[in-house]
Amino acid sequence: MIYSHSRLETFKTCPKKFYYNYIEKPDIEKKNSIEAFMGSMVHLALEKLYTDLKFLKINSLDQIIDYYLECWNKEYDEKKIEIVRTSYSKDNYMEMGKQYLTDYYNRYKPFDQGKTIGLEMQIPIRFYDEDTDTLYNLTGYIDRLTLVSEDHIEIHDYKTNKNPKNQLELDCDKQLALYQIAIEKMYPDVKKIDLVWHFLSVDLEMRSSRSKDQLENLEKEIISIIKEIEHARRKDYFPTNPSALCDWCEFKMICPMTAHNQKTKNITDENEYLNEPGVKLVEEYKKLNSEKKKVLDEIDPKLEKLKEAIIKYSIDNNLEKIVGLDSSLLVKCYENYKLPGKDTKERELLENLIKDNNLWIDLSDLSYIKITEFVNNSVFSEEFLNKISLLLNKEKTHRIYQNSKK
Ligand code: SF4
Repeated sequence: MIYSHSRLETFKTCPKKFYYNYIEKPDIEKKNSIEAFMGSMVHLALEKLYTDLKFLKINSLDQIIDYYLECWNKEYDEKKIEIVRTSYSKDNYMEMGKQYLTDYYNRYKPFDQGKTIGLEMQIPIRFYDEDTDTLYNLTGYIDRLTLVSEDHIEIHDYKTNKNPKNQLELDCDKQLALYQIAIEKMYPDVKKIDLVWHFLSVDLEMRSSRSKDQLENLEKEIISIIKEIEHARRKDYFPTNPSALCDWCEFKMICPMTAHNQKTKNITDENEYLNEPGVKLVEEYKKLNSEKKKVLDEIDPKLEKLKEAIIKYSIDNNLEKIVGLDSSLLVKCYENYKLPGKDTKERELLENLIKDNNLWIDLSDLSYIKITEFVNNSVFSEEFLNKISLLLNKEKTHRIYQNSKK
């Protein structure tokens, strides 16, 4: 399989979506989100702007907007595009794209910030994993590659999503850094490569760069994600990972996590909804569970009182076994060491005592069962036992076991 940043991201976001998208490829009618559609139309308009600039043709803003609208009208197919945020219309999104292009145009005209080397440029990226002697192939698409000076290149990416990333996120972003690895190999004489994001929704340009070490670490990280994917493929294990992004997932109609919700969400008739077999099962289950809880809430206090009475009877009469008609109860008394409560001075002393005596490996979970077992089986030295006894309280607990025989 040839990997790409978006394939790896899809796997990290939801393995099931990765499976549908790149392995099973189910024959379903997929819908593109209006956000993604608007983004691709904006990309087309910017591609035209910079392609024409290579021929020394500077389009006016109106020409770019006209081109954007022409692409929009030609490509828009309402059967294939979904508006998830239903309070906004197709026109709202179309206007947003126009605004993004207008802001971008006004900010950068006359577009003399560098010379364009590539647009929507496909680049091959190869990683060799020495451990497994495997060569992994990736591919990427750079929105725009710009030569600023003879030894200085910028990798540009246009983002049309509503929320820009912050600097910390960009300094860890994998996509453009991955492209930098390929560009360094393609242009070995270049000394400086900048990663540039254009967050068009807020008319913001942000930058970052990567050191050699960071790129080496990224390569290791990418190889490890690819290995995770290859492992999932061998095991055929691609679990669902539901999130807010499911609303925008092209596979939500068939995904086991969302398909039923999708199937029933358009049923407006309440009776029809309640009679849908899945809905009926859920409602019946909910009803019985709530009835069970009510019964348990009633019985539990009675059972506790009964247990107290049984224990008292066994203590008063010095009995470990109490018989009924054809069954019996065993009443066992255990003596345990109660640990001091968390965040108390005694607890801190106990922890220090255990550490000072090199017993932390065995007792770090501070389980009263394990400490009781160690005390009862004389595992501790007498000196340690004397010290620890000062911090522990002995307490008796009773347990009741039902026996089906007398
Ligand atoms: S609907 Fe959600 S859980 Fe299902 S495949 Fe898509 S992203 Fe994953």
